[in-house]
Amino acid sequence: MSEQDVPEVESVEAFRDRAGSWLDAHAPRRSTDRQDVAEQQVTGARGRDPIAAAKRFQAELFEAGLTGLRWPRAYGGRELTLAHEIAFAAAAAPFDLPTGFVFSITFGMCGPTVLAHGTEQQKRRYIEPMLRGAQIWCQLFSEPGAGSDLAAIRTSAVRDGDHWVVNGQKVWSSGAHYSDFGLLLARTAPELPKHRGLTMFVVDMRRPGLTIRPLRQMNGAEHFNEVFFDDLRIPADSVVGEVNDGWRTAITTLMNERVALGGGADSDRQAGVENLFRLARAAGRYDDPVVRDRLARTYIEHSIVGLIGQRVRDAALRGVAPGPEGSIGKLATARSDKGLAALAADLGGARIAAWDDSGRDCTVWTDLLLSVPARSIAGGTDEVQKNIVGDRVLGLPREHEPGRHGPFRDRTAGPETAGQ
Ligand SMILES: Cc1cc2nc3c(=O)[nH]c(=O)nc-3n(C[C@H](O)[C@H](O)[C@H](O)COP(=O)(O)OP(=O)(O)OC[C@H]3O[C@@H](n4cnc5c(N)ncnc54)[C@H](O)[C@@H]3O)c2cc1C
Repeated sequence: MSEQDVPEVESVEAFRDRAGSWLDAHAPRRSTDRQDVAEQQVTGARGRDPIAAAKRFQAELFEAGLTGLRWPRAYGGRELTLAHEIAFAAAAAPFDLPTGFVFSITFGMCGPTVLAHGTEQQKRRYIEPMLRGAQIWCQLFSEPGAGSDLAAIRTSAVRDGDHWVVNGQKVWSSGAHYSDFGLLLARTAPELPKHRGLTMFVVDMRRPGLTIRPLRQMNGAEHFNEVFFDDLRIPADSVVGEVNDGWRTAITTLMNERVALGGGADSDRQAGVENLFRLARAAGRYDDPVVRDRLARTYIEHSIVGLIGQRVRDAALRGVAPGPEGSIGKLATARSDKGLAALAADLGGARIAAWDDSGRDCTVWTDLLLSVPARSIAGGTDEVQKNIVGDRVLGLPREHEPGRHGPFRDRTAGPETAGQ
């Protein structure tokens, strides 16, 4: 089916059937075999070009009318409902879409932010190319001295004629090394209080004055980067939202991020639990009462996470803006994933605790074990999520932060408390 043949109005059932048939013909099936998954990860990372494959697949999704489901038609979206989006996720569950992690920030955070706060010109310039797979985006927020306390960022942008000149450094910028554009949060008015002197910009990641240095993680992957700005000049029409009102724009990005991380794919979670059961059988421990108790506990925790995700999606179905339930979902996901990894490590023993490229089965579980601590950090740490829940759900008093309302430039450079 080409773009011209995509029906304008489509019932959820018809859409689900069409999406299922299209994916059957175009997408690789998700393997339930842990070894196949390991193989795919290894060949995907080393043998082929996963970024080019993701861009090609995204272009095909666009032609088939299977992307941008709730985004406005004026910018290339389908303007369907959340029920269609949920139907697509269900149809896609048995498949391993090449777009996966590569486009997650583009569609989960940056696209929604440009749609909510961008100018008409920005929406026309960026949204359809994202949907067509021509642009991958990244999030340039965290800095060496500002993560939990994001509003303490020090990267500066100073107006110079019809440009802004940017200096400073970002860190943990996921996918910056293969991104085409980034959403950059910078300080434009140090004389204002810390939350009020920030501005959001779109940055072309290939401009002179911008240097990207990948960081190697303990699981061997290079997922995120340091990004340096040395007199980077960006055009004045790159501001997203209002000058000095970047905190409001950033909140949109962060709320979408928490919902994406906390309301995430049930299919991945189910596959993880099923593989754990398989591992217990292979290790000859499936009938061990203590192991069975832990397996049951893992199953229950993952089911609860699934229900929290469902609650997040249901709230969205009713048109409720993303709120603190994203934080609850994110906390629960991190906790249950860590439990799963710990049990896998106990079952697999020493061969899981050490990296060994020759043992394919070990590679996947080792990778999980080494990656899972990041779930309590990425998108806001567990402690910060708990602060948000305490503040907005339980109604506890906000954390005390001296100097919060004074000029940012009067603050010392030392560590500060989270104000997100
Ligand atoms: C896999 C991964 C991907 C990421 N991708 C991106 C990205 O694409 N773009 C981006 O901009 N950033 C990204 N990040 C950065 C992430 O948002 C930050 O790491 C996170 O917000 C924590 O900030 P920090 O690392 O500076 O830790 P810090 O803020 O220095 O925190 C250190 C410790 O102190 C605790 N702490 C801090 N303040 C408080 C408080 N008020 N109360 C209680 N405890 C507190 C924290 O919980 C933590 O345990 C990524 C991180 C990871 C792990």
